[in-house]
Amino acid sequence: MAEPKVLLNDFKRQWQEIGEEVVGAVEKVGASGWYILGSSVSSFERSLAKMVDCRYGIGCASGLDAIEIGLRVLGIKKGDRVLTTPLSAFATTLAIVRAGGRPVFVDTDECGLIDLDLCEEAFAGSSDIRFFVPVHLYGHSLDLVRLGKLKRRYGLRVVEDCAQSILARWDGRFTGSTGQVGATSFYPTKNLGVFGDGGAVLTNDSELYADCVSVRNYGQTSQYVHDVLGLNSRLDEIHAAVLKDVLLPRLADWTERRRAIAQAYREAVHNPRIRIPAPPASSDSCYHLFPVMVSSERRGAFQAYLEAAGVQNAIHYPHLITDQKALLRSDKLEVVGEMRCARRVADEEVSLPIHPFLNDAEVARVIDNVNSWQG
Ligand SMILES: *Cc1c(COP(=O)(O)O)cnc(C)c1O
Repeated sequence: MAEPKVLLNDFKRQWQEIGEEVVGAVEKVGASGWYILGSSVSSFERSLAKMVDCRYGIGCASGLDAIEIGLRVLGIKKGDRVLTTPLSAFATTLAIVRAGGRPVFVDTDECGLIDLDLCEEAFAGSSDIRFFVPVHLYGHSLDLVRLGKLKRRYGLRVVEDCAQSILARWDGRFTGSTGQVGATSFYPTKNLGVFGDGGAVLTNDSELYADCVSVRNYGQTSQYVHDVLGLNSRLDEIHAAVLKDVLLPRLADWTERRRAIAQAYREAVHNPRIRIPAPPASSDSCYHLFPVMVSSERRGAFQAYLEAAGVQNAIHYPHLITDQKALLRSDKLEVVGEMRCARRVADEEVSLPIHPFLNDAEVARVIDNVNSWQG
């Protein structure tokens, strides 16, 4: 009989480990009779913020919303240009457009992360690009020292997209509080994924915090008083209780397991047809994904080979955001330079399984199959 597949995400194993505690957390909320914006949300927000060395966390309905809320509280106006990356979840750009901004795209580096040199050129060259949504892609931290300098030098308003980078650090500093705002997601596949949708905004600024609290809840500043046009974007009490009681306490261990698997892949993969891009030098990555590169002509064959060997794999991301019809059809597309590196990553990338419930035998199976592929 064929061995069971090595999965990209293994929600059933996760449930085996934590299901009982999850049910306990749900019961606690049920018994409390309070389902929206109660003590579970506020206590989770405090714990999350503390874990990433940030003053405030604000739960909301998704990662997309967290980015939009961040841009709104930073005062974005209709038509404001926002620098961002062509290689990310489409949600990054969608949040910018929904907040009224005009995304402006610059190329990435070889690793797929937005190229901060090109960003600096764009800021230096256009004094009306002052919003910035960089993405800590794959769980790698961008250079936060550089990011902080850019922010100060050009007076930027920065929302860091940390949907993939929770607990990732640069020289010891967590992603999410170098910009005025960080935004993260609790979508099930994320490192801190819950049993449905959710997200959070992070900030150190008490005024931005108050604005986020208002924007996520219809723009309400006190009961039935609305000072801005807000959203309905709240994190549910049930999700917050599960996050706080069950998931957050395990996140550090789960992240260490991801790091150990990444290390094992790095040490043992030695197929000359496969390249493992080096993450940025001082990034202590949280390995949301483990990308490898293979020539574009052979990528389909490599993926099929792994699939036939029972090793699930995927592409992050097969299409550049700048190629998406939703943008091409609108007047919302502005591109600075060529998207050469990003396009190469989109054409060559394959994500190998990396999640905390992989056992050593499965990690070895992934390595053996990657190494035995003849191209
Ligand atoms: C998942 C993701 C988002 C969107 O998060 P949702 O919770 O699905 O809205 C945004 N940016 C990046 C980089 C992501 O990976």
